[in-house]
Amino acid sequence: MFAGPVEFLKGVVAMDGLPPADRLEVCFAGRSNVGKSSLINALTGRKTLARASNTPGRTQEINYFTTQGPYLVDLPGYGYAEAPLAVVEKWQRLLKAYLSGRVTLRRAFVLIDTRHGVKKVDDEILALLDRSAVTFQVVLTKADKVSRADQAQVIEQVRGALAKHPAAYPEIVLTSSEKGDGIETLRAIIATLV
Ligand code: GDP
Repeated sequence: MFAGPVEFLKGVVAMDGLPPADRLEVCFAGRSNVGKSSLINALTGRKTLARASNTPGRTQEINYFTTQGPYLVDLPGYGYAEAPLAVVEKWQRLLKAYLSGRVTLRRAFVLIDTRHGVKKVDDEILALLDRSAVTFQVVLTKADKVSRADQAQVIEQVRGALAKHPAAYPEIVLTSSEKGDGIETLRAIIATLV
């Protein structure tokens, strides 16, 4: 599925800009700088594919990528302390509408930095996914920056945080886009969903 062409389709700023719901999709969410672009690039084997979504002006858009299988949907990074309130509110409205209204959305992958674990701002997104009844799965990023012992501790912390989220899928995927760890596992998970 990721062997074929993967291309940037469009950036969406409002629900009426979404592409036709003619195939399944999975989305990726996470705090700014969590390693979301790097993960999408590693998954697709493209070095710079997701860079478009990180350029100023693109960061508040829902970015669609086409594959031979599902759409890969890059949600804007959250937790920008410096974003104006009006921008944050507009983005939250779009995110809520997307998560509750997109019938072809099969799973949300929520990226968490292995060094940081689940923070309050992550927990708010997880609660929104619960309310929207979107099954989500946690992907730990940048695992190469953390020792084995600390990885195990973070996985325990995340497991604890997930216990109160009914929409959580229990398996946690530990990844490093830099080293390639967990990337094949994540591809296989996406392949089973579609
Ligand atoms: P985004 O803002 O979530 O899209 O994050 P980026 O993908 O742009 O990554 C943010 C920073 O983390 C960049 O400097 C990346 O090089 C670095 N980074 C991302 N993934 C990894 C990883 O798996 N390992 C390491 N060591 N650094 C990473």
